[in-house]
Amino acid sequence: MSVIVTRFAPSPTGLLHIGHVFSALEGWHLARDHGGRFLLRIEDIDRARCRDTFEQAILEDLAWLGIDWDEGVRRQSDHLADYASALAELRARRLVYPCFCTRRQIAREVELAQTAPHGPLGLIYPGTCRTLAAAEVEARLEAGDHHAWRLDVTRAMEETGPLAWRTLDGSTIPVDTGIAGDVVLARKDIPTSYHLAATHDDHVQGVTVVTRGCDLAPATHVHCLIRRLMGWKEPLHHHHRLLVGEDGRRHAKRDRSVTVRSLREAGLTPEDVLAMARP
Ligand code: GLU
Repeated sequence: MSVIVTRFAPSPTGLLHIGHVFSALEGWHLARDHGGRFLLRIEDIDRARCRDTFEQAILEDLAWLGIDWDEGVRRQSDHLADYASALAELRARRLVYPCFCTRRQIAREVELAQTAPHGPLGLIYPGTCRTLAAAEVEARLEAGDHHAWRLDVTRAMEETGPLAWRTLDGSTIPVDTGIAGDVVLARKDIPTSYHLAATHDDHVQGVTVVTRGCDLAPATHVHCLIRRLMGWKEPLHHHHRLLVGEDGRRHAKRDRSVTVRSLREAGLTPEDVLAMARP
């Protein structure tokens, strides 16, 4: 295999907790044990939820733990124009469409359609705006109606044909885009989405192995499709298990007791915290 380039890509919406440390270590060890590179990317596209103080705390906590990274930190909010041009390309190729539905309308449509409404990534959009007449779309865009841009997954799959993604341990997983449906690629308040920004950045950063929690494995189906559409190289994937607490529940940002900050303040050493993240 070519040189391993992997990354840790936290969103600065809270303090690092022990589950994040576990995730960072998965990538860090993979890179460091194989002479590869470990990158740090701050996924801060949702400016309403992200805080500079959390970003600062993430950098400090990682440094305190001795989890070092190569190259500078990439901050997604510095690259919004790049995501916008990727979206413009998809738009020119008619692979995205504007969706004018509110959350409430979508929920109602889903209820009426009596289909399986929820996938592992949330509500599956029933496609209401996919079939709007071109004249109506024009008029509503012209009028400045609030909208999001959704990937037309059916059309996209017609263009690419069947796809599959590969795991680090050698499995091949067929892409199932039904898992997520026509996902949002951009909104007015957040001009890109996790799906578009993360795949774009993995490409420009030369990531060869995507390491992240298995809770994000369903997103990989969509990511594989976006990459093929954009001609971006497909990395291998390592979806690691999630670290769970003593109660058997996964750690989350709400569990304040297991943030690196609180453990530091309680007098634990970096070695103690690293040991907790490697049970
Ligand atoms: N930013 C995401 C998170 O904080 C991780 C994205 C990824 O690793 O692809 O959960």
